[in-house]
Amino acid sequence: MTDQTVRRTFTPAPLAAVAIDDAFWTPRLAANRTQTIPIEYEQCRITGRIDALHQQWQPGQPIPHYFWDSDIAKWVEAASYSLATHPDPALDAQLDEVIALLAAAQQPDGYLNSHYTAVEPENRWTNLRDNHELYCAGHLIEAGVAHYLATGKRTLLDVVRRYAGYIATVFGREPGQKRGYPGHEEIELALVKLFRATGEPRYLALAAYFVDERGQQPHYFDQEAIARGDDPAAYHFKSYRYSQSHAPVREQQEVTGHAVRAMYLYSAMADLAGEMGDATLLAPLEALWRHLCTRNLYITGGVGVSAANEGFTQDYDLPNLSAYAETCASIGLVFWMHRMLQLRCDGRYADVLERALYNGVLSGVSLDGTRFFYENPLASRGNHHRQAWFDCACCPPNIARLLASLGEYIYGVGDDAIAVHLYIQSQAALTVAGQRVELRQTTRYPWAGDVTLALTLPQPAHFALRLRIPGWCRRAAVSVNGVAVDMEGRLDRRYLVLARTWQPGDRITLELDMPVEQIHAHPDVAQDVNCVALQRGPLVYCLEAVDQVAPLHRIRLAADAALTPQFEGELLGGVVTLTGQALAADAAGWENVLYRAAAPALTPITVRAVPYYAWDNRAAGAMTVWLPVAG
Ligand code: ZN
Repeated sequence: MTDQTVRRTFTPAPLAAVAIDDAFWTPRLAANRTQTIPIEYEQCRITGRIDALHQQWQPGQPIPHYFWDSDIAKWVEAASYSLATHPDPALDAQLDEVIALLAAAQQPDGYLNSHYTAVEPENRWTNLRDNHELYCAGHLIEAGVAHYLATGKRTLLDVVRRYAGYIATVFGREPGQKRGYPGHEEIELALVKLFRATGEPRYLALAAYFVDERGQQPHYFDQEAIARGDDPAAYHFKSYRYSQSHAPVREQQEVTGHAVRAMYLYSAMADLAGEMGDATLLAPLEALWRHLCTRNLYITGGVGVSAANEGFTQDYDLPNLSAYAETCASIGLVFWMHRMLQLRCDGRYADVLERALYNGVLSGVSLDGTRFFYENPLASRGNHHRQAWFDCACCPPNIARLLASLGEYIYGVGDDAIAVHLYIQSQAALTVAGQRVELRQTTRYPWAGDVTLALTLPQPAHFALRLRIPGWCRRAAVSVNGVAVDMEGRLDRRYLVLARTWQPGDRITLELDMPVEQIHAHPDVAQDVNCVALQRGPLVYCLEAVDQVAPLHRIRLAADAALTPQFEGELLGGVVTLTGQALAADAAGWENVLYRAAAPALTPITVRAVPYYAWDNRAAGAMTVWLPVAG
């Protein structure tokens, strides 16, 4: 962003106003609803997370983890979104039961944390740096808001309002208050949601306090450690860059530290910029975006390369086999970009949102919705597989809540404009320029680039339709009621702006050219030198061993290789594969030789690439996104 005005210009269409009916997404959303969400409840039950809410822990029993409440909260949030679009009395009742336990676990002063209350009540708020108390509170707040908006019930909303009200008495700049803020960001964006749901400015003020106080000196985490009797210099992660608290947020120019924390912080900064009209947050947000997208983002939308800090390392360090790329971090990137799009309808943000959503997020769950990746590497020797659950189970419920709320990401509504950010077949009932507009989107995206939008209006209405022209698309054509529209002069930040008086029954058709492309990495990405990745439309492709006649490491792609897209309805739930000629290094003649002066012969073979999100859903085997180029 270059200018210094800021406002939340485009708000998401309400979840219940958008009905998704899409060949690509509907099966994934159904798996989320019928498999993932019930599995998550069951895992919360059998692992003791729900029992821990009874707060009857006794010494000698397994200790409820200090982040367990967040897993329950994210399940409540996901299940609530599901109710908003798919009423389900049994799920509704199950939610009520869990919420009753949460309400009963709340302390008289409003505090709510099953670990601290049962295990170490004397240590409340003594280790914000490491122990996720405010992070769990944030997820509970998001859950309370989601449940209220989906069902109209105030049961959990009232609990989290009391909790947030209590937190506001503990933290702040008044005498007797702690100048603390969370080690793991999350509550900041949650408080903005609570402000929007209730209209109470004190929640927005608390969010702004947490963001503004971050990284100030004297450093709160030093003081807190000393108060605990710990040596601040003995901090396990050495630097407060780990939690983005090394500097005040307005001085931050580079993405750093733990990736999920970073994405949640930047999301809150974008929220606050819009709600407070705080333009001083725009320059850091833009710098952070640029640093991420030009130095530190995987082609899959994966974020955070290293397991050691679950986060960033050095610029251009993007290893494939050991890529961390936590599912939650790509989800956090979707959250951040969604908020940037609300500030400014700019295709740069939508492109990154889409890249993460269709690749690094979607790979996080199996096609049937029952197994999950925590890490999403871009290459595998065949030993990396999705799991049923994790001890640290942040990713499964995070993907559940994102997929269950996907309808919020498709359309943005402004004062006199509707933005179409994502091409997903759906029906939306929106209000723009004071008038009700029904918008029917028909598309085969992401398998084909044809989109039709049909408008149902009670009477003619003047507003702008802003249609995203994806960054990967080099040729697009648009027509209104069959008449071609010249796109020259109508593009604004990669959105095609069609402003006119729309008539009932108007139809807009968009054709997005979607060729197969070989994508190169920056020359300083050492791991991708002399390699290309295959991309078609929003989807990044990979090669899996099960589809090839030669071991993956022997395969080379010719620079001019023609790969043919073909829809295969029986494969992986129906995918477009890319098939074509490649070359395989021949091991003939190498039986008794490890090194020799002559290069191996190259033999023509046929390769088949599948979308990256769908890998590891068949026979276990090696996988790679980046392929060496022959010659
Ligand atoms: Zn996670």
